[in-house]
Amino acid sequence: MKTQVAILKCADYSPISVSQTLERIFSLLGGIEKFIKPKAKVFLKPNLLSATSPEEGVTTHPVIVKEVAKRIKDMGAKVVIGDSPGGGISIEDVYAKTGMEKISKELGIALIKFDKIRKVNNCPLIEIVFECDCFVSLPKFKTHSLTVITGGIKNSFGLVPGIYKTELHWKFPRPREFSKVLVDVFSLRKPDLIIIDGVVSMEGEGPAAGSLRNTGLLLASTDAVALDSILARIIGLNPGDVPIISEAYRRNLGEMDLEKIEVMGEPWGSVFIEDFQLPHQTVLNILPRGVLNFATHFMNNYPEVNNRTCRKCGVCVKGCPVEAITIENGVTKINHKLCVKCLCCFEFCPHKAIYLKKSLALKILDLVRR
Ligand code: SF4
Ligand code: SF4
Repeated sequence: MKTQVAILKCADYSPISVSQTLERIFSLLGGIEKFIKPKAKVFLKPNLLSATSPEEGVTTHPVIVKEVAKRIKDMGAKVVIGDSPGGGISIEDVYAKTGMEKISKELGIALIKFDKIRKVNNCPLIEIVFECDCFVSLPKFKTHSLTVITGGIKNSFGLVPGIYKTELHWKFPRPREFSKVLVDVFSLRKPDLIIIDGVVSMEGEGPAAGSLRNTGLLLASTDAVALDSILARIIGLNPGDVPIISEAYRRNLGEMDLEKIEVMGEPWGSVFIEDFQLPHQTVLNILPRGVLNFATHFMNNYPEVNNRTCRKCGVCVKGCPVEAITIENGVTKINHKLCVKCLCCFEFCPHKAIYLKKSLALKILDLVRR
């Protein structure tokens, strides 16, 4: 039997559109009862990258989280919600600004505080992911400067508490190495069901500073690798060229072969997204492996601060693993001699005040490709 991926159009975030689309998705996948049993403990894990409002499109939209939570709760299951933002970001702020606190109050659902951790293969993960009967991943569809796209596989990185995430970014700053780490984390507890918020997606310099695009889709599957492969194909990429997908497939963690994936819902030809803008750094993935390690030393994006939009909140200072960022006399500065280009500051800045500058070598490679 082929791996199934359901794709349905969903024009907006009105509760009625979202709940009706979710019902159709559950039905295509064989009914929600297939995944959730009454009295089960269900962990919902949206992408809550930073303390930003739903309109900024950085995090999974709260209407999607709420409608999924409501549907599961109505079955008599116990629901909890949680995600770990980056190091230095207050989880209470994140829950308040992303709309999770409101859902928690309205539906009487607990928000995870990340105080219980279990180490597996030397990697700390939040305990709830092992305690729950069902792990439902709710990623936001965005581009990602290190991993090209962030979808079903990458969303599991939020199971690692913030401070350890920063450490992993620091130890493995290069795109291919980092993708392998993400697959390591993903493999420790694969989600039972993944529903991707692609109603409004982020293209360009995601996962935090890209541009929003109305893509009007909800996608779901029990196989995150198949789902990410379909996402890649929808935006014109070969899934095998996206390291996080090819690595997960190589380790037998899911399906990447499009011939072995059954797409249900919308006609396949109607869901393609033309001219989806990819991050600048994606160009590194086209280099032969032999030259990649050498090339990434100088062919890279590096972060800069826009001091006109910087609000001196200090999130980047706390989150930088090598203490390369300072705020002095009202100016936020990055010491590029210390910076390891992990891009944590770029991801976590809640005010989009950090942008990526291309190195000269990367600019030249871009020109050659045009
Ligand atoms: S760049 Fe400025 S606004 Fe952004 S996290 Fe750093 S201090 Fe805060
Ligand atoms: S300044 Fe460099 S090392 Fe520090 S968080 Fe930003 S990219 Fe990472």
